[in-house]
Amino acid sequence: MKKKVDRLAVTILAAVISIGCLRAADVPALIPAPQEVSWREGECRAKGEPKVERVVSIPPEGYELSVTKDGVTIRSSDDAGAFYAKMTLAQLRSPGKATIPCVEIKDAPKFKWRGVLLDTARHFLGKTAILRIIDEMSWYKFNVLQIHFTDDDAWTVEIPEFPELVRQGVVKGRSGFVYGGALQPFYYSTADIREIVAYAAARHVKVVPEIEMPGHFGAALRAYPSMRCKCPGGGKVFCIGNPETMRFAERVLDRVCELFPSDVIHFGGDECTREYWEKCPECLAFVKREGLTGIEQIQPWMTRHLTRYLAGRGRRAVGWDEIFIESKNRRVNASNAKITSLLPKTTIGMCYRAQGAGTAAANQGYDIVMTPHHYTYFDYRQNLAEDPYMYFGGPKLPISKVYQFDPLAGVTEAARSHVIGGQCCNWTERTLCQIDLEWKLWPRALALSEVLWTYPDPAKRDFTEFSRRAAAHRLRLIRSHVNCAPLK
Ligand SMILES: [Zn+2]
Repeated sequence: MKKKVDRLAVTILAAVISIGCLRAADVPALIPAPQEVSWREGECRAKGEPKVERVVSIPPEGYELSVTKDGVTIRSSDDAGAFYAKMTLAQLRSPGKATIPCVEIKDAPKFKWRGVLLDTARHFLGKTAILRIIDEMSWYKFNVLQIHFTDDDAWTVEIPEFPELVRQGVVKGRSGFVYGGALQPFYYSTADIREIVAYAAARHVKVVPEIEMPGHFGAALRAYPSMRCKCPGGGKVFCIGNPETMRFAERVLDRVCELFPSDVIHFGGDECTREYWEKCPECLAFVKREGLTGIEQIQPWMTRHLTRYLAGRGRRAVGWDEIFIESKNRRVNASNAKITSLLPKTTIGMCYRAQGAGTAAANQGYDIVMTPHHYTYFDYRQNLAEDPYMYFGGPKLPISKVYQFDPLAGVTEAARSHVIGGQCCNWTERTLCQIDLEWKLWPRALALSEVLWTYPDPAKRDFTEFSRRAAAHRLRLIRSHVNCAPLK
């Protein structure tokens, strides 16, 4: 049987055979694997800063890294590329060794959206914990940090015009941890946000805020109950028929645009129980007033309105895949769903269910970030016989499966450019704090980083070879006091 080896393994093998100077054990473990690596004879003992040159022909975020006996040269067309070259250089330095092996590297990412989502609404995560996660993200060339600030459970970002949001919104986590008033505040002040955004930007990580609407809106409705639908059970969704509610959404997005320089703003859009709108007199009147076919067009209308509103502020809107679905039942089978024509093509979808809705929307010309739960939900179980941080059964997502994730699966050739990346989602209904969050994030994020940056051929991925490198990085993470789980 033909042995499958990936590009990096071939490069390493060729280097060892042709040069004979670099034993396999001495080959530095690079994650994500660069696109092209050529090991050279000798070692670099030079100290001091690398020489940095601008070369406009190098793709965005890409770089060339040349390590010779005389020194280190970095070439890139932008600051991000130079930064990633330095991150690779850091990985080339073995702990305790003063020298770096000579090497020529040409590298650039496959996908431009390489994300990590943190959910601070189900269990709050302190500011310093977020800064630490940004440090590790940048080490592995992730460039998007999406923060799920709001949900039914809590509203965790300060909007000064609506002070009740962070007072009334923060009540409890679902795991039974009721936060008392003495422990508050469990939210990020505008000063905290500015610090997080600046810290991330210095590491070429964009912070994408997520403000959930029209579903998962319970915390805002507790703070401002007049925005509830006027029907039994309507206490969890955004009342589109109430003009005050849309004004609230716009004013919140105004403040969010001021706080976050990100060119994209996420407004949720998932798991909204649409049936309530059918029982709310204000929402039914809205459907009539706007000439919609029925309540199935309410969410697409809202998405279109807010997408245009954000466009007026120079931002693109992102939403979970249901924003494209035109149906009374949001659970409608994603791959067979009617994709709405109401949305501008600038709208970005984030596909979290089976990849069907995302591929259908990509095939219709929408940009998509792939986050299918069965490959990217890191709150799912790892393949551990005993897991001290797993408090429920649920689906299993071992690191070997993450490494098989193919964001382009099922996407037509013509639509592949619309798949702009992927992201792991760290939901925290059952993740209580930084310690167990890190355990679930690492080492699985190592595999995701390589999928999104290097994108090794899905038919030829060699998990055994990847594991050898990941083991070295697990030790590095532990030495950095990150609570990294075993490689299982
Ligand atoms: Zn209503």
